[in-house]
Amino acid sequence: MRRQCTDIDVLVIGGGAAALAAAIEARRIGCSVLLAERAPCHLRGGNTRHARNLRLAHLAPTPFSPGAYPPATFWSELQRATQNTADPLLGQRLVEGSLAIADWLQGAGVPLQPIAGHRLPESQRTVFLLGGGKTLVQRLYAHAKHLGIEIRYETEVTDPLLTGGRLLEVCCRKAEYKQLRPRAVIACCGGAQANRAWLARHWGEAADGFINRGSPWVTGEFLAALLEQGAQAVGDPRGAYLVAVDGRSPADDGGIVTRIRGIPEGIVVDQEGRRREDEGGDTASTRYALWGRRLADWPRQIGYLLLDARGLRAAPPALYPPISAATLGELAIQLGIDPEALRLTLDAYHAAIRPPRAPGDDWQALGLLPPKTRRAYPLVEPPFHAYPLRPGITFTAQGLAVGPDTRVRLANGGVVENLFAAGMIMAPNLIPQGYLSGLALTIGLVFGRIAGSEAARYVRC
Ligand SMILES: Cc1cc2nc3c(=O)[nH]c(=O)nc-3n(C[C@H](O)[C@H](O)[C@H](O)COP(=O)(O)OP(=O)(O)OC[C@H]3O[C@@H](n4cnc5c(N)ncnc54)[C@H](O)[C@@H]3O)c2cc1C
Repeated sequence: MRRQCTDIDVLVIGGGAAALAAAIEARRIGCSVLLAERAPCHLRGGNTRHARNLRLAHLAPTPFSPGAYPPATFWSELQRATQNTADPLLGQRLVEGSLAIADWLQGAGVPLQPIAGHRLPESQRTVFLLGGGKTLVQRLYAHAKHLGIEIRYETEVTDPLLTGGRLLEVCCRKAEYKQLRPRAVIACCGGAQANRAWLARHWGEAADGFINRGSPWVTGEFLAALLEQGAQAVGDPRGAYLVAVDGRSPADDGGIVTRIRGIPEGIVVDQEGRRREDEGGDTASTRYALWGRRLADWPRQIGYLLLDARGLRAAPPALYPPISAATLGELAIQLGIDPEALRLTLDAYHAAIRPPRAPGDDWQALGLLPPKTRRAYPLVEPPFHAYPLRPGITFTAQGLAVGPDTRVRLANGGVVENLFAAGMIMAPNLIPQGYLSGLALTIGLVFGRIAGSEAARYVRC
């Protein structure tokens, strides 16, 4: 039956970390809560399903993080990563709120990976979820159900009606209620990374070459509808966190395993067989992310990581087997690259290689453009291998401007008194540019909790 419903205290839109934290917090304070998740039950959880670690401040060693990571250090690293563009009031709430997240997660039944046993690299900054994002999602849904939160799957919320500084009404597709008039709404429906039309508007044809690493249901229409009705935008509509993924990955939901990290072990050429970047410039384990953005600016958004047998042995494992051949010429033909063009690139590269002269020196290829400043080993040991690379989009960087209470701001200077936002839909207040590992999940959980309690406070007033 399709009917109008006005007796819900809090409607939470979305089904990932931010939505679950918001719903749980509002329900614990005593509100009736409806959580509307667009995805079907078996694929619930948005991009949160794919996450594995989160960034948490702590003042002393914990079973999950050695040493200490004071909020002030977290904040200064965030400022550096974003070149001082993070909102300071929200930044303060983020770093201080993160102190309580490990306990909050465990209280809701979400297990964290103990550092004992040294099975993972230890980090003072980030903790790993035991069982990854999928376990987090499963445990938080179970907890939400236990608390009496009403959960609706395959329920897309659309057509917000903003009037007089209030969100009056929304529509639900494929739900029992067609029109909803909840007392408060918390938008936790993520960015727009799965929306091809959105990406094409800002990236043109290049968007055709992008691969969406996460959920196909995070398409940003609800965000766009709010912006059209006067909500204040924040961030860069063309901004996106892009990493290099295997070009053979599925169009959506390939997850973390499709990334390619072995770039410093070889050279990367475009479809014309030309090198365009210093493959040895960024060898830190997390810097592979830089290559996504680079590939987005390349012709046809494609590159090929070329490795010889040594390089393949040294590179971290990848999901798909490489494309392999006995000679570099045969490999070029398999990749559709002109073998003569590739030969010229390799000749120039090999001629420029300088072996180390003293202990601690690295192999370098200098005097060519671009140089390779580290790990410039010759590609001589057969067989030869290639991984096709494309930009893999993780999230977009335009969202809703919010105040420190997560209330949505209006472009005319006011606020929407009963509309709150948490997670990636408001993350560009904190990361309009730049990123730190584990930040997205922390933003979702910290601001989900804040939005849940602020919405409950509003409803109870
Ligand atoms: C491969 C991969 C690995 C990642 N690894 C990490 C990591 O290790 N650490 C980290 O911090 N971050 C990581 N991230 C990023 C992080 O997972 C997300 O940015 C974060 O979880 C987003 O949380 P969220 O709740 O805001 O949104 P999501 O978890 O994306 O949830 C959005 C939800 O909204 C729903 N939805 C969308 N529109 C509507 C609508 N109109 N009506 C109803 N529901 C709607 C979607 O179905 C979805 O459930 C990773 C992302 C990817 C893709």
